[in-house]
Amino acid sequence: MGEKLLEVKNLKTSFFTVAGEVKAVDGVSFYVDKQEIIAIVGESGCGKSVTQMSMVKLIQSPPGKILGGEVWLDGKNILEYDAKSPQMQAVRGAGISFIFQEPMTALNPVYTVGNQLTEVIRKHKKCSRKEAWELGVQALRDVAIPEPERRMENYPFELSGGMRQRILIAIAVACNSKLIVADEPTTALDVTIQAQVMELLQGIVEEKKTSLIIVTHNLGLVTRHTKRIYVMYAGKIIESGTTEELITRPRHPYTIGLLNSVPKLEEKKGDQLVPIEGAPPSLVHLPDTCTFLPRCPYACDKCRSSPYPALRKTEGEEHYVACHLDLEGRT
Ligand code: SF4
Repeated sequence: MGEKLLEVKNLKTSFFTVAGEVKAVDGVSFYVDKQEIIAIVGESGCGKSVTQMSMVKLIQSPPGKILGGEVWLDGKNILEYDAKSPQMQAVRGAGISFIFQEPMTALNPVYTVGNQLTEVIRKHKKCSRKEAWELGVQALRDVAIPEPERRMENYPFELSGGMRQRILIAIAVACNSKLIVADEPTTALDVTIQAQVMELLQGIVEEKKTSLIIVTHNLGLVTRHTKRIYVMYAGKIIESGTTEELITRPRHPYTIGLLNSVPKLEEKKGDQLVPIEGAPPSLVHLPDTCTFLPRCPYACDKCRSSPYPALRKTEGEEHYVACHLDLEGRT
């Protein structure tokens, strides 16, 4: 086992809307070691992004509210810091930096790449404008952008989608943070560029000795690059384990469904991808029983009559699952 960098314990975040309490994050726990890459995987709306934003108190309040939990970063519970405190500002940069999805909207269209990079660098580092510019050029070089000096003068619309995503990664790299959170880092990119972005992120972790959380709906994207995976559904972690354990011996029907819905390397011509039927539940009126029940092909009387299944350890390495049944090997 490595040395822990981040440990999230029993994090709870809700949004209080006219329709009722939306339990977006409901008792989520996970950890990341130093220089480790993990993934948090789940469908859109499962609470994975809210989990990450809650860690650094970037939840709009109201309607959002962090109701409980602990977030330990390098030995300090950063959830004790006020959202606007200088300590939390320091965490959002030197501690944890974010690569947001949709590079076109995450970058400001009216400022050049250089302006945006130097602004972030000067926010987190005491340095002159000229030094920040040079660090910005270096950050572009770190993410393999050709002609970095020239790219500093470009506006986002002058760059391709893949290049814009590299700029966002460069902004995160320039902060020299201990942990990078990449939220859907390859959305809207074609498959070849997706693979390049993932290789680039892995290279950055190795070179900069940082840690990385990849937040994605695409389980197939992360299996090559991560050491451990957490699967989220309806605001909770429903299965977690080492990547090898999880993809070779998935236990939760939802994880099995995710694996069956992504193409495999050994796929034969004519093999069908099987989507997961149905839609995720509304997080406003969650049942007391298993939240996956209406979509689950294995649901039985026990599932219908028992309360929500707690996460339990299996005999697999670091393998936990929240399911009443023992479904090992049912891929
Ligand atoms: Fe399916 Fe039952 Fe397991 Fe829920 S507890 S995932 S309904 S088998």
